Amino acid sequence: MKLDTKAFRNIVVLTGAGISAGSGLRTYRGADGLWNEMDPESFSTLEGFKRDPLRVWRFYSDVRDAVLAAEPNAAHRSLAKMPLAAGASLTLITQNVDALHQRAGSVEVVELHGTACRTKCSNAACRLVPFEDTSVHRKEVPLCRQCGSPLRPDVTFFGEMLPMHAAMRAKRALRDCDLFLAIGTSGTVSPASEYVRSADYVGAKTLYINLEPLATPNRYFHQSVLGRAEDVLSSMLGG
Ligand code: NAD
Ligand code: ZN
Repeated sequence: MKLDTKAFRNIVVLTGAGISAGSGLRTYRGADGLWNEMDPESFSTLEGFKRDPLRVWRFYSDVRDAVLAAEPNAAHRSLAKMPLAAGASLTLITQNVDALHQRAGSVEVVELHGTACRTKCSNAACRLVPFEDTSVHRKEVPLCRQCGSPLRPDVTFFGEMLPMHAAMRAKRALRDCDLFLAIGTSGTVSPASEYVRSADYVGAKTLYINLEPLATPNRYFHQSVLGRAEDVLSSMLGG
């Protein structure tokens, strides 16, 4: 199936872990799910971090290693090269923390769940500016040089609020979107389920692209294309 993206003015794309599966990064859910044979949802939470920050750092050290070893795949590249009409906008919203969209050349990326290779202070009142960081910590928890609190990866833990700026940008883009694509994300849970509803409400065409079908039908998706994102997007948008 071909998609003429030049026929749209305000395109919103939401991606999930499935778009990076072709880069060798494992999804949490889905057929090949369970990164590291662990269940991050049980400890990658604010309470989990307070209880055992080293366990969380060990997990994200593996994530950092995996992300740095990975390369963008054809799906990331197709989105970075999506043909657009003059003056049209593309807002690429991702739940991934791997920065592979940016490495593929996408400039404006809204990172809903933060990014693995950035570190911040766990003390919300601290003025430490979050910084790019590829270091790994498996033996000791790194501490903030300003306030002494444990540092943490700048990712959204399960149960935490989405970063305000990213959530606002996503909402703004959805307000006048005319094409919405959800790619490699289990489309029945938030935010995909909410975003597709808003997009449908404002009259956008909505499309679900994933390896597996939706677990529960979602009538706000007008069409589904099942397959690997790297194959589907290459033929849909050109590679
Ligand atoms: P998810 O709920 O978005 O589900 C992933 C979906 O991708 C599954 O439905 C699966 O069928 C599909 N999929 C697998 N391979 C695919 C392919 N080649 N092409 C298209 N679809 C494919 O994501 P999740 O795995 O449950 O992760 C939840 C959250 O954990 C993410 O939103 C993210 O914050 C974090 N996470 C990030 C990364 C990353 O940055 N690469 C990886 C794993 C998890
Ligand atoms: Zn601090």
